Amino acid sequence: MLSLLRDSIRLNVRNGTKYINPLPITHYPMKQLTLISRAALHGNRTAIISREGEFTYRQLLERSAKAAACLLEGKDELQEARVAFLVPSGFDYVATQWGVWRAGGIAVPLCVSHPPPELAYVIDDAQATIIVCHPKFASKLQPIAKTRGVRFISTKHLYDATETVLPQVDPQRRAMMIYTSGTTGKPKGVVITHNNIEAQVMSLISAWEWTSEDHILLMLPLHHIHGIINVLTCALWAGAICQMRHKFDAYEVWDRFIADNLTLFMAVPTIYVKLIATWKAASPNQRKVMSDACSKLRMMVSGSAALPVSVLEKWKKISGHILLERYGMTEIGMGLSNPFHGKRVPGHVGTPLPGVEARLVDEEGNVTSGDEPGEIQIKGPGVFLEYWQRVDATQNAFCDGWFCTGDMAVIENGTYRIFGRKSTDIIKTGGYKVSGLEIKEVLHTHSAIEECAVVGVKDSIWGECVAVALVLAPGTELTLEQLRNWGKQRLAIYKVPSKMITVKELPRNAMGKVIKPEVVKLMSATD
Ligand code: AMP
Repeated sequence: MLSLLRDSIRLNVRNGTKYINPLPITHYPMKQLTLISRAALHGNRTAIISREGEFTYRQLLERSAKAAACLLEGKDELQEARVAFLVPSGFDYVATQWGVWRAGGIAVPLCVSHPPPELAYVIDDAQATIIVCHPKFASKLQPIAKTRGVRFISTKHLYDATETVLPQVDPQRRAMMIYTSGTTGKPKGVVITHNNIEAQVMSLISAWEWTSEDHILLMLPLHHIHGIINVLTCALWAGAICQMRHKFDAYEVWDRFIADNLTLFMAVPTIYVKLIATWKAASPNQRKVMSDACSKLRMMVSGSAALPVSVLEKWKKISGHILLERYGMTEIGMGLSNPFHGKRVPGHVGTPLPGVEARLVDEEGNVTSGDEPGEIQIKGPGVFLEYWQRVDATQNAFCDGWFCTGDMAVIENGTYRIFGRKSTDIIKTGGYKVSGLEIKEVLHTHSAIEECAVVGVKDSIWGECVAVALVLAPGTELTLEQLRNWGKQRLAIYKVPSKMITVKELPRNAMGKVIKPEVVKLMSATD
């Protein structure tokens, strides 16, 4: 399949649509990771623009080689050691990530906004033996490294080592672990190989016609597939420019649209909602400048959560762009997409991307024609290898070699429309997928909380927000503000409930299980 994708890219070159590869892919050295050998071909072109400055592909190769030498510490290779790293979005992030890959390790990106208990969970679960950390996060991670005897490297010293011969890394090996919430509570490490990354990237480069002339703005978090694969790795694979910002700021995005020559933009629906609000708050003159700036871009993409049709329409009026909505998941990369050329159907997520096979399956396990809702199942070279050290969870996630996504969809006029998730335990808020079970576990450690049920409720800005129904311990009181202040010390901010009700008892079925839809109704009744 990969060779097919390669052929299609070469075809684009032959048809003269745009320059993609200076050399046919088959000419790249076989033993070097493709991402790295491709970078060598783009030498003096700009790879990254970030707060640290502007960097070429050559500089990225030099620094990542030094980072690899530092990680290796004289060893031949890391042999899939897990290297957890907490580095803000920017050049050092990429030099670290590439350094881990070039040294033969598994990159475990940590989330910059996570509090220490969540970081410690990932470090322990991944059994990380090295932590790379930007000085600004040292106070969070140094104590964790110390108590566990894990090697701690500050990015200040990442490039101190002298370059050494780097190992040849087999592309079938594990490359990265991204932590994602599942139905079983705590996040699981989704392991993807170098081959998985290549397949995911080649699919998007082919479908969305990435070229080395592209310039993308990246302000998505870099512990999630959207930012890491769809934006950063696709850009660097294509020889394009990736402009990296620490975090999303609507004004900053508009400034970049206006001042820079961006060609691509990718974001979650919530970001488009915020960009629309900023545009609305501007003066008529400013609005015109903002709208005109959008015409420089060749494509704008939305994904990671359902894009409301109303948002698509508002954005079209403002920017002239019909957002390209796609569907994907940490475990599969991107699966379905509206077309780059051709009709994009609002409210739909399109058809399988190159290299991806998709089918819908009913409750009895029969493949359906798509008229009735069925579970989306996915097969292809981009599908992940395993959940880290969770053999059962990995096995249960597959059916006859197909990955069971847990998302329901129908096919209308040949394109997929997402129905929702099979499990009510996953809440999708602002593009983040969070586990209600995990939040519940933490809330249960609060002395005033006797029982609780965590649900996602519809929210016009965040898609869904985390809501909680509480049964309080007798004689205690708790306000939402108090709960949030307490929660922020223990949970990532987007997991902290933003809606709360107190009830005498939770609605339960005969088996004693909480009836989640009833809880959602109770929450809505108090709005
Ligand atoms: P994550 O693994 O965090 O990327 O989350 C993947 C989940 O996000 C999928 O299983 C879907 O439930 C949801 N998702 C991603 N893209 C879309 C979309 N375009 N429309 C609706 N849900 C989506």
